[in-house]
Amino acid sequence: MFAEIIINSNAKALNKTFDYIVPKNMENTIKVGARVFVPFGKSMKLEDGFVINIKNSSEFANKEIVKIEQEESLTEDNIILAKLMARKYFCNISDCIRLMLPPGTGGKELSTRIKEKTGNFAFLKRDIDEIELLIQEGKIKSEKHIKVLRFLEQNDGIYVPDLELLTETSNSIIKTLVKNGHVEIIEKQIERNPFVHKNIEKDLPKILNEEQRKCFESISFSIENNEYSKNLIYGITGSGKTEIYLQLIQKVLEKGKDSIVLVPEISLTPQMVDRFLARFGDNVAVLHSKLSIGERYDEWQKISKGDAKIVIGARSAIFAPVKKLGIIIIDEEHDISYKSDTTPRYNAKDLAKYIAEKNNCPLVLGSATPEIVTMYHAKKGDINLFTLTKRANNSNLPNVEIVDMRNELSIGNRSMISLKLREKIEENIKNKKQTILFLNRRGYSTFIMCRECGYVAKCKNCNISLTYHMVQNKLKCHYCGFECGIISECPECKSKKIKYFGTGTQKLEDEIQKLYSEASTIRMDIDTVTRKNSHEEILNKFKNENINILIGTQMIVKGHHFPNVTLVGVIAADSSLYIEDYRAVEKTFQTLVQVAGRSGREEKGDVIIQTYNPDHYAIIDSQKQDYNLFYSQEIELRKLLNYPPFCDIILIRFSGKNLNEIQDLSHLIFKRINKVKKDDIIIYKPVPSPIDKIKNKYRWRIVLKCKLTSKILDIINYGLEDEKIKKCKDTSIVVDINPNTMN
Ligand code: ADP
Ligand code: ZN
Ligand code: ZN
Repeated sequence: MFAEIIINSNAKALNKTFDYIVPKNMENTIKVGARVFVPFGKSMKLEDGFVINIKNSSEFANKEIVKIEQEESLTEDNIILAKLMARKYFCNISDCIRLMLPPGTGGKELSTRIKEKTGNFAFLKRDIDEIELLIQEGKIKSEKHIKVLRFLEQNDGIYVPDLELLTETSNSIIKTLVKNGHVEIIEKQIERNPFVHKNIEKDLPKILNEEQRKCFESISFSIENNEYSKNLIYGITGSGKTEIYLQLIQKVLEKGKDSIVLVPEISLTPQMVDRFLARFGDNVAVLHSKLSIGERYDEWQKISKGDAKIVIGARSAIFAPVKKLGIIIIDEEHDISYKSDTTPRYNAKDLAKYIAEKNNCPLVLGSATPEIVTMYHAKKGDINLFTLTKRANNSNLPNVEIVDMRNELSIGNRSMISLKLREKIEENIKNKKQTILFLNRRGYSTFIMCRECGYVAKCKNCNISLTYHMVQNKLKCHYCGFECGIISECPECKSKKIKYFGTGTQKLEDEIQKLYSEASTIRMDIDTVTRKNSHEEILNKFKNENINILIGTQMIVKGHHFPNVTLVGVIAADSSLYIEDYRAVEKTFQTLVQVAGRSGREEKGDVIIQTYNPDHYAIIDSQKQDYNLFYSQEIELRKLLNYPPFCDIILIRFSGKNLNEIQDLSHLIFKRINKVKKDDIIIYKPVPSPIDKIKNKYRWRIVLKCKLTSKILDIINYGLEDEKIKKCKDTSIVVDINPNTMN
């Protein structure tokens, strides 16, 4: 007996199968999907891999499989899915397999991995400022040491094996850091149950209203009859979507089956999880990146063993090892986090459809502002559409006003806060009500320029302007993390007329504190959200300490329910309107509607949207909170421009340090595809990407517009198949279908 094996590696050259002999004693246990260890290459080093086929003869096999890791083996369905993904998303089969493995597997054997109840945790022993000083003075030189120390600043108290894995360092480096007095190791109990402190009151099902009941009954029918159906629940926030999910899951449980619920990473807050725990208790497992690897491993095992029958998680929870799938629910289905930005560049919504179909169970998408593409298919009848029009708890929709910022300039208000908004904030502070201010740019000033010669301060590694961060008094690159001191003199013309332009959240907070010295503020953006100071804690603090004003980026849009917030101000509604991305307008509309929904959940609330484009339909429609109107305008434009859903956008991105090679390869691929393409495929010539350098790597791209079909996959695969392309060392080539960003 012989087995075809895929080695667990992301090397392009290893994206093929190798034949191995199955020893007699394994013949009964081996199956497709088995995780095995095999001697590989000249060194005969043990590598892990997966059986993807079993056969009776082989011309090449001359080595035996050494071991099967039974507990961590995959199913045949997993392997089929991985193969399908590899073809569709242009990556290695093992890249896809890895998504389905227990967390922390890391190519190691099960018995060698840490499973104890106590473990070592790493803490910074010196203040980070002291460490930064030592780095500046050259007293800490090693790149690896610096990497670990900076990582620890963000993740103090991390489990040592996690630290090694996440910073790709060895234990000896950590030992050196301990010896030098920078880091200390403390042995602690390993927290393996993320809900151990919880004591949640049991919650009972609500009696559904008419609209909810219709939806519930229709989807229940699919559950009862074990049949696939694709459903969209379109209902404003608070209209009772989650209540329907909970009751559907109850139904699935009664049939002895499992449920997968996907939510955007950022809304995986304890509040959200609590609602599921309150209804289903221990039957719930949670998978997301904020858990330690140990916790994730345990949650994964709970699902795999059938101890938890409901999985809630972010994108990758679609691969949870459930046994008998009964429903897939995707909440906030419009969220871009369901599409992966790293290899494999899969879209969890597409995979969910495939998996639900294969398991004969319903797929449920829910949103207050469905993705345009989803709604298009719902209107066409490919997806069952259920509309919830009423807020289940009868709370009001806010009153939304638009402020034209061009008028502010003409009346001499140069501040980023309009007079109207200023007045409202003041009133709110007086009435002890809370305010949220939304600005999707972090830092202090976003643009630094010499007024004499036009020089712009840019990152030395990326073609991107630097952002001034006042807290550390530094200029930073938001793409690669490069930092440098502030400049007061132009490096080109020596002029002192350096001006800091643009507004980020730090400057906004600064200005608010100057305007309302009596008000308390709290800021939430990537700079304030660290492991120590989580998303969750900031929001809790805002709520529990009744802080007057929360200032934040995209992060504040989702999650909590703030009963005392009666005013939301959007500082610059246009900031995301004109980026080169087919979803830019849609995303702006969705964000504005969601932000507005934060105001007045329990009493009448106000929303003020500041903009330089008061006539843009995304702005006007978000004022009216009218999704249908927005949909009808946006879909016309998509048709006109031939954008999704009318066609797909395929981006082939090249990046690397060798510009000549990038140009050569991109033209080669362009020619190859052009040679075989049909008329219904539009292909644009290779050009530099909008951001043409990041982390010292040049970036080029080819864009194709066409309907994504099996034939197109073949054509692109043919385009990439040239020997020269396979051999190139310096250039990475990725294919991204309907990407989140065209950068
Ligand atoms: P959504 O998920 O659409 O935002 P939820 O399901 O969270 O809406 O419902 C909003 C609030 O209304 C929740 O507190 C929920 O418990 C309550 N609710 C939902 N459906 C009903 C119902 N049929 N009867 C009473 N309360 C309900
Ligand atoms: Zn200058
Ligand atoms: Zn940079």
